[in-house]
Amino acid sequence: MVETQELQASRLFSVEGWACLITGGGSGIGLMCAQALAANGARVYITGRRFEVLETAAKVHSPKSGPGKITPLGPCDVTSKTSLMSLVTSLMSLESRLDLLICSAGISGPKAQPSSPSAHSLSHSLWDAEAPSAWSSVFNTNVTAVYFTTLAFLPLLQTASTQSGHMSGNVIVISSMSGIIRHSQGHFSYNAAKGAAIHLARMMSTEFQKTGVRVNSIAPGYFPSEMTTGESDERMKSEMSEEAVKGKGHPVPAGRAGSDEEMAMACLFLARNRYVNGEIVVVDGGVRGQVPA
Ligand code: NDP
Repeated sequence: MVETQELQASRLFSVEGWACLITGGGSGIGLMCAQALAANGARVYITGRRFEVLETAAKVHSPKSGPGKITPLGPCDVTSKTSLMSLVTSLMSLESRLDLLICSAGISGPKAQPSSPSAHSLSHSLWDAEAPSAWSSVFNTNVTAVYFTTLAFLPLLQTASTQSGHMSGNVIVISSMSGIIRHSQGHFSYNAAKGAAIHLARMMSTEFQKTGVRVNSIAPGYFPSEMTTGESDERMKSEMSEEAVKGKGHPVPAGRAGSDEEMAMACLFLARNRYVNGEIVVVDGGVRGQVPA
């Protein structure tokens, strides 16, 4: 039993003293998570292929007060085992353990709408717009790299669990509502890859539980990012209008994109709740209730 004051949000969701690593942490959802963790006391390392992006994100968004900090690490291409091993070495020169790994690095894939009722023209429009190599590329970054990134950091995550308590070291895979809904959204390869990422997270949660490391996933709906808007500003932030959300071709009950705060809450919940393993937290503004899933 705890005293009531021990249930304050600031205590429940403090990550003070934690070491966290976020792939794709220089923009979009990865950066939102980096800010959430640093604001609550963590030393957050962000990585990606463009080092200047990481430097800008860290400089602009590192907390101005408190123990939390955002630090660029890398560059790293998560599709390369060599690059991942070099990232492990870099992190080990700074930290003896890793409390949280967030796999947010991801790319979109080829797009083509399966709109024609004629099988001939539907087949041809998708056939012409997509190539097996583009499918491989999407799977390589969005699925395969999540697996190898987690494997690379598993020993450091286990050290966190050994030192701070069983199942405290943990992984959050940023998957997508696109991996759950049956709507292709005009990008079959991305949605199939995100479905695979969800199942990968579930398998890793079961298989890696014996190491004391938890694995969960956040499945976001629409959030402003470079991927969803095609750009970011000088602060590495993107804007997504309500009009853009309305044009998605299916209902979005919230009527808007998700916010930094809403992603931060999902991230802190999974990071801190040691009793949750193998779950998919859907943060989609209600889309899954409207679109077949
Ligand atoms: P962004 O494009 O803003 O972020 C993706 C990040 O991944 C970039 O910072 C990019 O940096 C990094 N990245 C891409 N490829 C690699 C690579 N090979 N190695 C290392 N880093 C890489 O988009 P989002 O924030 O939207 O995407 C983050 C995750 O969220 C993705 O997995 C995406 O699928 C998922 N998601 C996003 C949704 C949204 O609405 N925004 C909805 C559902 C899921 P760099 O180019 O410098 O490497």
